[in-house]
Amino acid sequence: MGKNFDVIVVGGGVIGSLIARRLGRAGRSVLLLESGAMGEQSSGAAAGMLGAQLEIHEPGPLYRLGVESRSRFKQLSEALLDETGVDIELVNNGILRVAATPEEERELKASMQWQLEAGQRCEWLDGAGVAQLEPCLAPHHGGVLLPDDGNVLAPRLAQAAALAASRVAVVRADEAVSSVVKEGSHVLVRTIRDTYGASVVVVAAGAWSDEVLGTRGLFHARPVKGQMFSLRPKPGVRLQRTVYRHGAVYLVPKRDGSVVVGATMEPEAGYHREVTVGALQKLSTALGEVAPGLADAHFERAWTGLRPMVGTGQPIVGPLPEEPHIILATGHLRNGVLLAPCTAEAVASYVDGGAPGKDWAAFLPPEGYGVAAGSAV
Ligand SMILES: Cc1cc2nc3c(=O)[nH]c(=O)nc-3n(C[C@H](O)[C@H](O)[C@H](O)COP(=O)(O)OP(=O)(O)OC[C@H]3O[C@@H](n4cnc5c(N)ncnc54)[C@H](O)[C@@H]3O)c2cc1C
Repeated sequence: MGKNFDVIVVGGGVIGSLIARRLGRAGRSVLLLESGAMGEQSSGAAAGMLGAQLEIHEPGPLYRLGVESRSRFKQLSEALLDETGVDIELVNNGILRVAATPEEERELKASMQWQLEAGQRCEWLDGAGVAQLEPCLAPHHGGVLLPDDGNVLAPRLAQAAALAASRVAVVRADEAVSSVVKEGSHVLVRTIRDTYGASVVVVAAGAWSDEVLGTRGLFHARPVKGQMFSLRPKPGVRLQRTVYRHGAVYLVPKRDGSVVVGATMEPEAGYHREVTVGALQKLSTALGEVAPGLADAHFERAWTGLRPMVGTGQPIVGPLPEEPHIILATGHLRNGVLLAPCTAEAVASYVDGGAPGKDWAAFLPPEGYGVAAGSAV
């Protein structure tokens, strides 16, 4: 294997893998380096919701990018199936956000207003409508159906993206990057095994992104632990679509009939991935309140993941202000699965020396993220 590449991508989650795939398909020579197994950090742990309308609470660039990224999944799922034989199990039947109180009902109706004005579809259902749509739920004040939000099987997406990347790029798992050093017009990437050179380095190392650059604390990249479990409803009971109740729980039915129940948000838990009894108890209690019809389902398994958070919780995508050959693509927090296709496109534009659509300007690394030339960065 040669040691010089057009682009080196650091991190083999959905973000890094889809970037490597995108650049490799465009004819770039690409090396993708992953410290552990491909896709087994946040990406493999996600619930896989494509919640552009569910998760993004105000009109603006992130909302528009979420909607755009969501619209790419049909084509992406077909392409990945074609390239790898792996089905990411795209489900396109909407997300139902339920209201437990009259106050929540008012909030949901207000959010419907701006979403309709932004050109998106959403429909209000009263309590009877919610019960008719999903009989295993508790009585609710009503809910908003977001018919265009959906979900994928996140571990499959991570697997398919990694495989697709390996078709067009050199992929090295179990090879942690230890430093990224600028030398002239090149960037040297040192790993536990070797040193590689590239014109551009893309850092997509999730919650470890500033550690990779040796700038721990500068971006304030950190993990937000999430715990979840999956269950299998008893025969004859089926949840049709994703149900979300703010502050309580979400339930994401998968194509095989299992339901993913999530998720905690634990910004103080550090880099630990243990499942805790307290989290399972909290989620189970919320499940019983929101969907008593699933309370006697069989427990399947529980797991955790570390969502990548940077700064105040918005993604950071683009070249460092003073080091344009180092491109960051991280900080996607709760929406990295949703935003992965669009992020890959944006990074490809930056690698080409251009700029993606104007909505991405809001997510450029701010001034001060640059590092001195010639130093370990
Ligand atoms: C419980 C939970 C539920 C979620 N649900 C959803 C959801 O429903 N919808 C949604 O859109 N998003 C969801 N997310 C968020 C989503 O998982 C993330 O935003 C997304 O996976 C981030 O992808 P990534 O590639 O940036 O990070 P990661 O998947 O964490 O990948 C980063 C990779 O970098 C590697 N790395 C670290 N250090 C180095 C190094 N030194 N050298 C080389 N490689 C390195 C890591 O090993 C890792 O594989 C959820 C997350 C969790 C935890």
